[in-house]
Amino acid sequence: MARLESQELADSVARGLNAAEIPCVLWYHFLWATHGVPICCDGLHFVVPDAKTAAAGEVLRTSHFSHTLVACPDTLKCLDGNSPDSGRPHPAFHMHIEEETGYAISLFPQSETIWFLPPLSATLARPRTCQLPPYLALASDRTALPFYERPPEWGAFHLDQTVVLVLKAHIMTEALMRIMARDYNTKRGEDVTQHFLLIPIHAEKLGFLNLDLLPEPFKKIYEDFRDGPPTTKPLQRLQRALGRPVYESFYR
Ligand SMILES: [Zn+2]
Repeated sequence: MARLESQELADSVARGLNAAEIPCVLWYHFLWATHGVPICCDGLHFVVPDAKTAAAGEVLRTSHFSHTLVACPDTLKCLDGNSPDSGRPHPAFHMHIEEETGYAISLFPQSETIWFLPPLSATLARPRTCQLPPYLALASDRTALPFYERPPEWGAFHLDQTVVLVLKAHIMTEALMRIMARDYNTKRGEDVTQHFLLIPIHAEKLGFLNLDLLPEPFKKIYEDFRDGPPTTKPLQRLQRALGRPVYESFYR
């Protein structure tokens, strides 16, 4: 799916959820791409409040967007879905675009993704009129995201009136680090490696990651990841700092 078309789809999904008073925040590959990471997006992921997850799925299942949604065509192999071998956390909702079945829409509850932030409030379902908290931005915000004129492959949305919300770069970094500490060396964490940190490193090179906004121990450990040799030692320190188990296999 072309990037501009996928931006329109993301906006359409967010508007549908917002119309049902459900706030949502962009997540995963599409979020990374919005921060300028040149990554191929094979789907659209949103975070929604835990208590609204089922209702959000029902909105997507029954509403008429620009695209029709169908069941996952291959639940055993689809990496975006609930395959036991996906190596990723499983979404709470997962369907595909009928016209382009390689492209999926998935929902994740906040408790699985950005649990360390305050609960997503209902006022965020009106993102263009409410006061946004300092860790969120609209996906069209060129002060928070890089903008590319042509082609619009990555970076801020070209839709000036979009309602899609994104995490700012320092919060995206903290989220990635917390998920690394939580999932590394687990079945659902096979997709989670220290290479996850290449995402904020890219955002920092583009000038959109303000490390002064990143709290400790995340800032120091991020800098060690960025500047040090490619070992898992910073990840071990992060796990210890966050009270996560450090597995034997990390010691190498
Ligand atoms: Zn699928």
